[in-house]
Amino acid sequence: MNSVNPKIPSKTSVVVIGGGPAGSLSAILLAREGVDVCLFEKAKFPRYHIGESMLPSAIPLLDFVGLKARVEAHGFTKKPGAYFRREQGSPAGLIDFTKSGGYSYHVVRSEFDHMLLDYAREMGVEVFEETSIKAVDFLGKRPINVTWETASGQGKTGFNYLIDASGLSGILASRYLKNRQFQDHLANIALGNYWKNHRPFMNDHDIGCPGHFNMEALADGSGWVWAIPLHNQTLSVGVVIHRDCYKAALQRHGSHEALYRHYIEMSPDISAMLSEATPVSQEVKIWQDYSYVAESFSGSGYRIAGDAAGFIDPIFSTGIHMAFLGALSAAATICATLKNDCSEEEAHRYHDQCIRQAYIRFTAVVAGMYGQIRNQDKIVLHGITGQDLQLAFDVMQPIVSKKLDDNQDEISTETLNKTVRYAADIMLELHDISTDNLVSKLMAKKAHKKEIISDSTNAIEGKFIRLQRGQLGLEKIGLWRELTNRIEAQGVKLLLSAVSR
Ligand SMILES: Cc1cc2nc3c(=O)[nH]c(=O)nc-3n(C[C@H](O)[C@H](O)[C@H](O)COP(=O)(O)OP(=O)(O)OC[C@H]3O[C@@H](n4cnc5c(N)ncnc54)[C@H](O)[C@@H]3O)c2cc1C
Repeated sequence: MNSVNPKIPSKTSVVVIGGGPAGSLSAILLAREGVDVCLFEKAKFPRYHIGESMLPSAIPLLDFVGLKARVEAHGFTKKPGAYFRREQGSPAGLIDFTKSGGYSYHVVRSEFDHMLLDYAREMGVEVFEETSIKAVDFLGKRPINVTWETASGQGKTGFNYLIDASGLSGILASRYLKNRQFQDHLANIALGNYWKNHRPFMNDHDIGCPGHFNMEALADGSGWVWAIPLHNQTLSVGVVIHRDCYKAALQRHGSHEALYRHYIEMSPDISAMLSEATPVSQEVKIWQDYSYVAESFSGSGYRIAGDAAGFIDPIFSTGIHMAFLGALSAAATICATLKNDCSEEEAHRYHDQCIRQAYIRFTAVVAGMYGQIRNQDKIVLHGITGQDLQLAFDVMQPIVSKKLDDNQDEISTETLNKTVRYAADIMLELHDISTDNLVSKLMAKKAHKKEIISDSTNAIEGKFIRLQRGQLGLEKIGLWRELTNRIEAQGVKLLLSAVSR
């Protein structure tokens, strides 16, 4: 114990820096495994935060930790999908989550983040708000202590593992590892405000879509506008423009408010939503320098999760998804070492690759989208029209869909037989097993489907996340995974998903 705040322990198993979605979720996951966790948050919650639109991937994780019902009961706006008008004059493309049975929410972050942080406390996490982490001490390359500061003074807490979920400030990457790299091609500035008395978005068939995320490209190719309907009856409206266009435009328009209005006027869909609306505040909010990724996300005794690791761009609403994925991977890989699932080095390598893979995937899709936005008069995304944008989104689908694992689905015996016999044709020479044997093994998996819920990621180095309460950790790839991985490698994944639907 220390004299400044006797409630803050001088030693714990895991220290988490930051009480945003990445910090709270990783702390919740660890506490539910019986791990001692101290979470330090510099602000007093509820606190304002941008990042309101979630992807369907959040739902199964909230369900896994026991928070889904509470989030659903809160009354946040349900999000069935997203409209993207990538070119003015062309139809808006729809990404329809409900096609695969998914949905998500638009959340008021002060309320959502507060709910997560309170739940962390309920799960046994020692949460210290208004307590800022000022420094991290290392023994060699391994962090061992944090120095925290409250209104009454400073103290130190030692730990076995550190999770840096400090968001944009990214203590480890920016101050100690110095490996944060900014993405110049995505050097955008965002301007935002909230509006009252707005109208719902009307799609190209004149049907009102009150719950969808809305993206509309600016006709001059300088950027795009978002509209997110929130359950507190306000509409979050933001303009995203490249740094270079921003500087020149700010000079022309004189103020951020005038610039923000100018870009909204260039967006017919969103202007129509705001035709009778009034802004909640006279001052617009500004975000910049938010597109960056660290070179690595883990090492001996530490994991970096959420915005502390990196953020790409708001266009596909991937921030909370990445925060949750980082939290899951950080917690699972720490548990994997504590439970001797694998060596510490294997565990932190898993985290590194899991996070890197997800950033690469999103960066590729986001870069394609910006290519189209900035070249309004050319076709950049060949073969992808506004209407079938769903196809482009399918590139990301494995990690943003409603499911964490295909294995969770009820699969009929007939489908299993069909799938396995097809797979077996390809695989039998690689596996010394009979088709019938495979069927019985897969049926056994079906029977135990609750136990085998697994990764939101692909298997990495032969391991995947064992998402099971009391058993959270890493598991070696089993027969089913090896089989599906190899089938995927053979390019027949589409057939598999078609027959299992
Ligand atoms: C313009 C814009 C629009 C966005 N829109 C979306 C969207 O629609 N959907 C979406 O999913 N994402 C969106 N995002 C991204 C989203 O805001 C973030 O990805 C998300 O908040 C990351 O969560 P986190 O827990 O990693 O970090 P944060 O939510 O930022 O939490 C970090 C916490 O750490 C605390 N902290 C920082 N330093 C310290 C310290 N030294 N000691 C103690 N505590 C500390 C902070 O107070 C904070 O509470 C958007 C981002 C921007 C810039």
